[in-house]
Amino acid sequence: MSTLYLVGIGPGNRGEITEDAIKSLEDSDIIMGYAKYIELIEKFIENRNVVPGSVTDEMERANRAINYVMQGKNVSIISSGDSGIYGMAGIVFEILAAHKYDIDVKIIPGITALNSAGSLLGVPFMNDFCSISLSDRLTPVDIIIKRIHAAGSGDFVTALYNPVSSRRTELIKKAREIMLEYRDKSTPVGIVKNAYRDGQKVEISTLENFLNFNIDMFTLVVIGNSSTYVYGKYMITPRNYNKKYDI
Ligand code: SAH
Repeated sequence: MSTLYLVGIGPGNRGEITEDAIKSLEDSDIIMGYAKYIELIEKFIENRNVVPGSVTDEMERANRAINYVMQGKNVSIISSGDSGIYGMAGIVFEILAAHKYDIDVKIIPGITALNSAGSLLGVPFMNDFCSISLSDRLTPVDIIIKRIHAAGSGDFVTALYNPVSSRRTELIKKAREIMLEYRDKSTPVGIVKNAYRDGQKVEISTLENFLNFNIDMFTLVVIGNSSTYVYGKYMITPRNYNKKYDI
């Protein structure tokens, strides 16, 4: 039986991709994905009899992959980070459910940007957190805004995926304004660009000033909660050991 692998490649570096991901890629007749991510993993795959899918449209890519599997091919669709977090597994499963297709699918988990960026920032996610994608391509802006309010009022550490795009530059400003309704302007904000990739940049700013930093579509923005503080080059969200123990 042939399989559709939905492979999370993590940030793309060899050290942060799992053995299962590599095995799935090696077991695939066809590997599909955004060209930039194909490039990242090509160098790690030993059996190179692989046809990279060149389609850029997610819907078309998913449909083509499902068709290849039905024709008896093993196919991997790769996503950066984790495929189940704003990745290709979503559209694939929606299509499978809508058409009641019955094919063998395996999701291979990957290190999501929240993990990779978090590890570079220190321990920002040591207490309750949430992630919000600022992409309004599939989610209406008013829902995104409602969720930012909820994150702010709930005092969740908040990771902002897709903080800006070439077309969408205003929503991040709105996100900052909303967060300032709930948190102090000195709240630490981490800005991680290209985690574990060429061009990696890790910076820590504040809710007041973080927009002065270069934020692009390869950046994850991490807004601390009301207890998050900075220690040297790290962000610490305390789990409050100090309240229970003498440290
Ligand atoms: N499936 C991916 C997320 C895709 S959405 C995952 O699990 O990580 C794309 C967004 O993820 C980017 O706009 C950026 O905010 C974030 N991202 C992905 N890779 C990143 C990296 N290496 N460094 C920083 N942010 C990253």
